[in-house]
Amino acid sequence: MNDFIQPISEEFKNIFFIEGAREGKYPYSHSLLIEDFLIDTGISSRLLRKLNRIYQINNVLLSHWHEDHTSGNRILRNAKFYIHPKDKFLIENINRFNEFYGISNSPAQDEFDWLVEGLKLEDTKINKILEDNQTIKVGNDLNIKVIHTPGHTAGHCAFLELNSKIAFLADIDLTNFVFYAGIDSNLMDFEESVEKLMGLHIEAAVTGHRGVIEGAKKIRQEFSKYKSIIYKRDERILSEFSENAPKNVIDFKNRNFIYKYYSQFKEYEIIAEMIMIQKHFDKFIKNKTIEQKGNGYILS
Ligand SMILES: [Zn+2]
Repeated sequence: MNDFIQPISEEFKNIFFIEGAREGKYPYSHSLLIEDFLIDTGISSRLLRKLNRIYQINNVLLSHWHEDHTSGNRILRNAKFYIHPKDKFLIENINRFNEFYGISNSPAQDEFDWLVEGLKLEDTKINKILEDNQTIKVGNDLNIKVIHTPGHTAGHCAFLELNSKIAFLADIDLTNFVFYAGIDSNLMDFEESVEKLMGLHIEAAVTGHRGVIEGAKKIRQEFSKYKSIIYKRDERILSEFSENAPKNVIDFKNRNFIYKYYSQFKEYEIIAEMIMIQKHFDKFIKNKTIEQKGNGYILS
């Protein structure tokens, strides 16, 4: 059965939603196929080999460097690979992933090394660079616009096919799990990127970890919901501050400010949570919501 390959629009017959293994849950993700361009390769090796037998894939657009979006690169060695310059050095040097997840020499590193081995991740040679606002002509009548949407990673990109108004939003994924726990993540950029996407006319949105969302109005509502998750985190974290008792990121450790429950990957989740709390600190400092006092921060 090839029911993981699903047409999105009756009018545009060469655009397909490609459903990742385990419904696109980590360590897999969904893809979008537009003629001979595939966006991301994390659907699983088995599905990607199948897809590659049915459709010729000559070009691969990578939304960002994360392993759940790029693990199938090795299967498409003959294709041309594209990524934003800010994510290029990482996908070409996967041994630096640990450092960028902030887990080097931590208990979470073994777990991650094991996962990377299981995914058979390899360095990817990049052939072309993606630029913000660039359009890539595909076939006779399709044009993919590149939208640089930093925040999740520094080089994260979304894509919009201009005729069909079908978009691939990658890890601005419209799930409850809003993630900016990389060393190269930035919460303020992330929010700006969401705003940027909200300003576009999108009729169908495919995200890395959620199926197709249809209808411009519905998509806008989903963006608002997504933003509100960040605002709730802001409030929860900010409510710990006062005007006299200085706080540091370490005071938030192991207290479920972001992860409601820690899973069997608790070691990693605690590190990720601390990095994300740091990103909220960065935002509060920039906005002058908090200020330094002694060796911590208080409300301004
Ligand atoms: Zn990601």
